[in-house]
Amino acid sequence: MPDHRKLGRELELFDTDPLIGAGLPYWLPAGAAIRHSLEEYIRREERRAGYQHVYSPVLGKRELYELSGHWAHYREDMFPPMELGAEEELVLRPSLCPHHAVMFRSRSRSYRELPLRMAELGGMYRSERSGVLGGLTRVRAIQLNDAHIFCTVEQVAEEARGALELIRRAHRALGIGPVRYRLSLAGDGAKYVADPELWRRSAELLEQALDGLGIEYERAKGEAAFYGPKIDVQITDSAGREATLSTVQVDFHQPARFDLHYVGPDGAKHRPVMVHRSIIGSVERAVAQLIEQHGGAFPAWLAPVQLAVLPVSEEQLPAARALLARARELDLRAELADPREGSLGARIREHRLVPYQAVLGAKEAADGAAALRLRDGRRLEPLPVERVLAELGAVVADQRAELWPH
Ligand SMILES: [Zn+2]
Repeated sequence: MPDHRKLGRELELFDTDPLIGAGLPYWLPAGAAIRHSLEEYIRREERRAGYQHVYSPVLGKRELYELSGHWAHYREDMFPPMELGAEEELVLRPSLCPHHAVMFRSRSRSYRELPLRMAELGGMYRSERSGVLGGLTRVRAIQLNDAHIFCTVEQVAEEARGALELIRRAHRALGIGPVRYRLSLAGDGAKYVADPELWRRSAELLEQALDGLGIEYERAKGEAAFYGPKIDVQITDSAGREATLSTVQVDFHQPARFDLHYVGPDGAKHRPVMVHRSIIGSVERAVAQLIEQHGGAFPAWLAPVQLAVLPVSEEQLPAARALLARARELDLRAELADPREGSLGARIREHRLVPYQAVLGAKEAADGAAALRLRDGRRLEPLPVERVLAELGAVVADQRAELWPH
């Protein structure tokens, strides 16, 4: 596997600047295009699975994290608070959970609303030391694909199972794999919230979800979140380092800290459970993995440029521009490879990572057709331009892995 940092620079996907700071990459247009497609995919999958999207601020008062337990258990990974006058201290958030817990309790909730699935692709921050930072995998500003499911204890195993199914489907669509499943449990020490009975129950619920899908997993002590055990989906990067991509966690702790409740069928107040889950983890790590796994040859729906239009000579420029405009109208990312930039062969080589190249010679231009070259080397007979665009549009819309249906 290639190193995503090297390839990311070569393909102009992202970069960093010492003046902005280590661990704070910026996304160039090609990288931003991949990220948009990925974020759109996640939001659509979540909507279909009954999640509701929210936005919450990336800052919160120090008291918020004292209440959640992050201040006591996670402070060394957090940025120091910003003082505003004598009264107020604001913290860059180390996770989205506390905001979502507060949003859940913003009004009274009925059992009929459960499971309530609250999702957000939101920023969070980790104060890593500059020596360990690099590329998209060790960063200080993280865009997290996060969600919290507020549900009853009886609903936890089914919700965890649903989350695992979303994760597996996403890995297939993205071409990510192989992955390993890990049940991460508490270790010794003050890092973890103390309550052995709750830890045991939470771990049991996660095991049920894994067993229900017949997923093999290993157990790892000392890898849990401070508030509860979790299922981690592990990947390996080009340097052979293992990292967590996706995760499903069961949490009895934060609902108690935030005094969350819902009104049950009996009219009494009950405590919900929080299931934290992430399908692709951080957008940064997910894109790093995609770069390495595909070596820059992304599935068509993720590719920064999906269609390169190559007129053989300047005479075909008007036809090429018309095709380009039509492709963009249909929301395809298309680019013109101008004949003044080099020979046809040179332009074909330059666009070798682009999934589709539409070559327009004199005959194609006159017929309203295009001869398609696929990235895998296939060359198709000239087809009407509208037919070409319809096929490409369908491949991209369905997030298909194959380049051509036949
Ligand atoms: Zn969370």
